[in-house]
Amino acid sequence: MLEIHALEKRFDQTEVLKNIDLKVREGELVFVIGPSGSGKSTMLRCCNRLEEPTSGAIMIDGERITDIPRRDLDKMRLKVGMVFQGFHLYPHMSVLKNVMLAQVKALGRSKPEAEARALEMLDQVGLKHKAHAKPSELSGGQQQRVAIARAVALDPKVMLFDEPTSALDPELVGSVLKVMKELREKGMTMLVVSHEMAFAREAADRVVFMDGGYVIEQGPPEEIFGNPQSERLKTFLSRVS
Ligand code: ATP
Ligand code: MG
Repeated sequence: MLEIHALEKRFDQTEVLKNIDLKVREGELVFVIGPSGSGKSTMLRCCNRLEEPTSGAIMIDGERITDIPRRDLDKMRLKVGMVFQGFHLYPHMSVLKNVMLAQVKALGRSKPEAEARALEMLDQVGLKHKAHAKPSELSGGQQQRVAIARAVALDPKVMLFDEPTSALDPELVGSVLKVMKELREKGMTMLVVSHEMAFAREAADRVVFMDGGYVIEQGPPEEIFGNPQSERLKTFLSRVS
């Protein structure tokens, strides 16, 4: 579904991603861990061309997205849902309108169609009763669930998450992780950068450890957490757990 081949990214002289190879198969949840500055966000941002790769190829749903001309990126980005740390909801619009907007503007769905899909997604994230509230009336965890509903309502082929819970108070993290787990159970393909190691153990099909712009190790969670091979991963795990 998502394949990264020999991806390199340089900012001026600094090499930030070095020969990254990574595959996320359909319906898989792949987790990316690694120290600050290791290139996790840059890699994710290359997957929808928010960053331009210096070299290498990225395939999504059979399409080589690294070859797409810049003017055609919007169409490709509809296939790649992204959820960041901040929620970026429109503050002056209701929750429902927030989830409807891109469906109408970018996908060309009719308003009734977009509304039906929005309500279905809000129900899925447990927030149908907040459809007419403003984002400011919601907790951080609820706002993040709306952001997820908004992205998934566009029926992307793959969802990218960049530390979706790291801005939340600890008691709100669980509700967002639960929504991500349910998405996975529905068959969504997901690439997730997060420090929630317990969640990775429980929900990830594969865990990728990055350090210094390289993928150092990858494998099933029980291998990565239970039997780390490299010194770098051992050190990282001893610091975070
Ligand atoms: P964190 O866990 O702190 O979010 P990360 O693994 O996501 O870290 P990145 O944000 O991908 O790391 O950054 C990787 C490296 O690339 C860092 O050294 C960073 O300073 C550098 N970098 C990222 N964006 C840019 C940019 N636009 N220009 C120059 N350097 C950048
Ligand atoms: Mg980051």
